[in-house]
Amino acid sequence: MTKKSSLLDAAGANTRLSHIGNDPRSFHGFVNPPVVHGSTVLFPDSATMENRNQRYTYGTRATPTTEALCNAFDELEGSAGTILVPSGLAAISIPFLAYLSPGDHALIVDSVYTPCRNFCNSMLKRMGVEIDYYDPEIGAGIEALIKPNTKLVHTEAPGSNTFEMQDIRAIADAAHKHGCVVTIDNTWATPLYFRALDFGADVSIHATTKYPSGHSDIVMGSVSANAKWWPQLEETRLLMGICGAPDDAYQILRGLRTMGVRLDHHQKSALSIAQWLEGRGDVARVLHPALPSFPGHAIWKRDFKGSSGIFSFVLKAEPEKAKAKAHAFLDALTFFGLGYSWGGFESLAVHVNLSDRTIRKQPTEGPVIRLQIGLEDVADLQKDLEEGFKAAAAV
Ligand SMILES: *Cc1c(COP(=O)(O)O)cnc(C)c1O
Repeated sequence: MTKKSSLLDAAGANTRLSHIGNDPRSFHGFVNPPVVHGSTVLFPDSATMENRNQRYTYGTRATPTTEALCNAFDELEGSAGTILVPSGLAAISIPFLAYLSPGDHALIVDSVYTPCRNFCNSMLKRMGVEIDYYDPEIGAGIEALIKPNTKLVHTEAPGSNTFEMQDIRAIADAAHKHGCVVTIDNTWATPLYFRALDFGADVSIHATTKYPSGHSDIVMGSVSANAKWWPQLEETRLLMGICGAPDDAYQILRGLRTMGVRLDHHQKSALSIAQWLEGRGDVARVLHPALPSFPGHAIWKRDFKGSSGIFSFVLKAEPEKAKAKAHAFLDALTFFGLGYSWGGFESLAVHVNLSDRTIRKQPTEGPVIRLQIGLEDVADLQKDLEEGFKAAAAV
């Protein structure tokens, strides 16, 4: 171990983000790795070619750019290996294809990212994989749902749109007793705020589209696995011919350098807006794990190092006015854009559709509005939201 790597192991998050992944000495001292565009890699002689006995062998396997990003993720997650895939959704579907076979059973959290549910209900079912959804707050109770053919337990903490927390340690311990692989969609917290593998998850999934990118200009995903589950993941990636593009990998690596300071800002602004919303009469509930009023708060506090910039609130409305009030609210916003995804510098709002849920159904008090709090000034965002509340009240 070099002096730098042992110092980095003990360093704080922002120090690590500034120094992981790349190796300036191998690129003439330039701080950032080059963006290497490449398919063919030449070998010096036929023996080296036959044995593939050199660091890079083909563009789909690794380039200096993609490798730098994978190394950075391994440092952050404490994983044995990381693969890059073309989107966050592919970062869910590829490990599922790696670990599941016809006749297997998978347990998926009910508060899962909706396109994951769509993948399970269509392609996995067509392949003969049995799917059951479970309550996000099930904890150790997951054991009762494990069948002899259960191979995979998928978690997401906090859950999409409604932010239920999950006791990952309790779920992983139960799942491991039965030999299941435990995957987690760790996009909300990033590895800075939740080191999933330290809590028993085997595979940590990220839509790097979100905070690692930070600028709403890249779609990419990463999957980091521990030593036990890494070979099967890497093999699947190679069998399927999936790889990350070098330009995108470069941008994500660039984004990682500032992710700590950006997240800190997102965290503070989002919390202050969440607290402000909580005090309003026109808000029924605020769904944010870092608020003491939130049901999963104790788990968040015990396991997570921070909270990011995305949360939801329930706008008070009678059922027949719910949609009209939600739309009036959204249409009155200026700084908050109406758009999917999150993790960028700009604030976003969306009326959440929970119609796919089988266990954690739509709250009865009104529509759920999800906010991504960007890097704008809180006072301006509050003024913007005030306009939304005024418009909703007029419906
Ligand atoms: C956005 C998102 C994804 C998918 O990422 P894309 O790059 O948009 O495909 C996966 N999981 C969660 C929790 C997300 O929010």
